[in-house]
Amino acid sequence: MRSVRAEKVAEAVARLYREAACSPDPGLEAALAAGRAREESPAGRAVLNDLIENLRLARQTGAPPCQDTGTAVVFLELGQDLRIEGGDLLEAVDEGVRRAVREGYLRPSIVADPLRRENTGDNTPAVLHLEIVPGDRLKLAVAAKGAGSENMSALKILTPAAGEEEIIEFAAAVVEKAGASACPPVIVGIGIGGNFETAPLLAKKAITLPLGERHPDPFYAALEEKAIERINRTGVGPGGLGGRFTCLDCHVLAAPCHIASLPLAVNLDCCLPRHQTATL
Ligand code: SF4
Repeated sequence: MRSVRAEKVAEAVARLYREAACSPDPGLEAALAAGRAREESPAGRAVLNDLIENLRLARQTGAPPCQDTGTAVVFLELGQDLRIEGGDLLEAVDEGVRRAVREGYLRPSIVADPLRRENTGDNTPAVLHLEIVPGDRLKLAVAAKGAGSENMSALKILTPAAGEEEIIEFAAAVVEKAGASACPPVIVGIGIGGNFETAPLLAKKAITLPLGERHPDPFYAALEEKAIERINRTGVGPGGLGGRFTCLDCHVLAAPCHIASLPLAVNLDCCLPRHQTATL
C-alpha cells in the first residue's frame, strides 16, 4: 500500500488554493476577448475591457483579481490503496487553507456560525467533498468560490416528465434573476439527477470543469450549447449592464435518479472561474 504524509496534503492544498485565488482559468482571457469581439453593447464591451485589464494587473502583481477569494471548496478523490500517515487528512486540508490565506494575504471570508457570524480569520473550515476511488493516488481539486454567484444559485425538483427545454428555461431564469449580483458573464453549472443533496454537488463539480470543454456525451454537449445560446438571449450582459455575452460557459453533469423525480440544480460561478488540480 502506498502512503502519503499529511504534510504533503497540506502543502498541496496551500499551493492550489493560493494559485486558484490568484490565477483564474487559463482560457479566461481568450474567452473574454472573444466575447468582447461579439458584444454589441458599448457598456458590455467596457466591462469586458475592465475585466481583461484586471486579469493583466493580477498577473503582473501576483495579487488576486477579486477581493473575494471565496470559500475554499476542496474535492478529494482518495484511492482505497493509499494511506495518509503522520496526521489527520481533514486537518491537513484546513491547514493548507490556513497557510494559503496567511501567506497569500487572502481575505478571510468564513464565519464559524451562520447566525452568530464570527469570522474564523483564516477561511477555515474548507468545504470538503471526499470520495473513495480505486487506486493508490490522491487527486485534489480546489476551487476559490465567490459568494456573489453562489448566493444566486438554485435547486428545483422537477417532475420526471420535464424535458430539456424546462431545464434550460430554469437555468436561464436563474441567471436572469441574478442579474449583476452574480458578476456576469457567468459560468453555469447544471446538475441533473441524483437526489435533493447530490444535484447541487453535480452542479458545483460542473463549474470546476475547464472553460470550453464540452460533455463527452453528445446529448449533454448539445444541451450545454443550447443552454449557452438561451442564457445569452436573456440580455443580462457583462456586469449585468445589458448585452449579448452573459454566459462564459455552461457545463452539465448528470447522474441516475428515482423514477418519480428529476432533481435539477444550477450553480453559478462568476467571471472569475478559479480552480486548480493536482495528484499526489
Ligand atoms: S462573485 Fe466573483 S467577481 Fe463577484 S465579488 Fe465574488 S468572487 Fe468577485
